[in-house]
Amino acid sequence: MSKLKVPYLDLGAQYQTHKDEILSEIDRVMSNAEFILRKDVEIFENQMEQFLGSPNVIGLNSGTDALFLGIAASPLARGDEVITAGYTYVATLSAITHNGCTPVLVDIGDDLNMDLDLVESKITDKTKAIIPVHLNGRLCDMARLEEIARRYDLVIIEDAAQALGARYDDRSAGTFGEVGAFSLHPMKTLSCAGDGGFLSTPDSQIADKVKLLRNHGQRTKIDIECYGVNSRLDNIQAAILNVRMKHLDNMVERRRAIAERYCEKFNLLPIRLPPAPSTERYFDAYNSFVIQTPRRDDLAEFLSSREIGYMIPWPKPLYLQSGLALAKEALTRTEQACRECLSLPIYPEMSGEQIAAVVQTVTSFFD
Ligand SMILES: *Cc1c(COP(=O)(O)O)cnc(C)c1O
Repeated sequence: MSKLKVPYLDLGAQYQTHKDEILSEIDRVMSNAEFILRKDVEIFENQMEQFLGSPNVIGLNSGTDALFLGIAASPLARGDEVITAGYTYVATLSAITHNGCTPVLVDIGDDLNMDLDLVESKITDKTKAIIPVHLNGRLCDMARLEEIARRYDLVIIEDAAQALGARYDDRSAGTFGEVGAFSLHPMKTLSCAGDGGFLSTPDSQIADKVKLLRNHGQRTKIDIECYGVNSRLDNIQAAILNVRMKHLDNMVERRRAIAERYCEKFNLLPIRLPPAPSTERYFDAYNSFVIQTPRRDDLAEFLSSREIGYMIPWPKPLYLQSGLALAKEALTRTEQACRECLSLPIYPEMSGEQIAAVVQTVTSFFD
């Protein structure tokens, strides 16, 4: 039995990697008192535009707000229906409902993303948009989704909170739709010291509107153009992000290497694995490495007893959360995912021994 502890996430180790650089950036920002919408935010936005290949990136204070403001700035009206995945974080749905729209949930397929075979049966004459959630750093089949959106004249808003660094047909997540929403939360591939997020859009009008909305509708010091909210990415967070951003490609490559190893070693176990890294259409970023097994709860207990970290993503379907007052559904695959999914440690700072300990412990559970 392995004696090595493997935390699910090791943000302390992440900090140690670039500690000196980050501390000197924080010192610079504090010393110059550059806090709100200053040049580090602009630098971050420009760098992220280059990374994604997007003409407009806007720093915001969370991924949730990126979804919320992305919908607010899109041509959607109260009462419109928005199709999205049944298996997602509650933020996807709250962004829809806070805009006065109605979420319509679709079941998921083998890769845990929205099952595109089921989308058309949910389209009504009120449907105006579709929000694919690129779960765990794998994109939805965007060629098919774009085709459906075109046929029914739907706006595409991508929940790319978990998909930074992921590509499909060599295009970055978050650059297919009218809006791509990203999170910089500590659990995400690129993270700041707390909450943060950003939005990408090819549409300069949406970009302009989101810039206004994030700053209380202020066009200039004098002119206020509309009611907005306070949702600015803090300058100090941007400064931290600009340090980490330089290593983003490497961090994604490291995640892919660990995923490759897991897929290889777990290949013969009676579990459902995520798709292995490939160089074909999908370039997966492995924000998480999620396996599925009917013995999930026993496995979780076993991992705990051996000090191997894990996470159970979302154990209860959103439409069964009575406080959310969603339409009754019975999404079989979503319910199965809630019962069977378990997320294993996957982060760039993991040592070879730690990866081996995860492999060995999971394997010994099934032996
Ligand atoms: C993390 C996440 C969000 C929300 O991002 P925050 O930055 O935490 O607000 C939205 N959707 C999905 C799928 C997420 O994983």
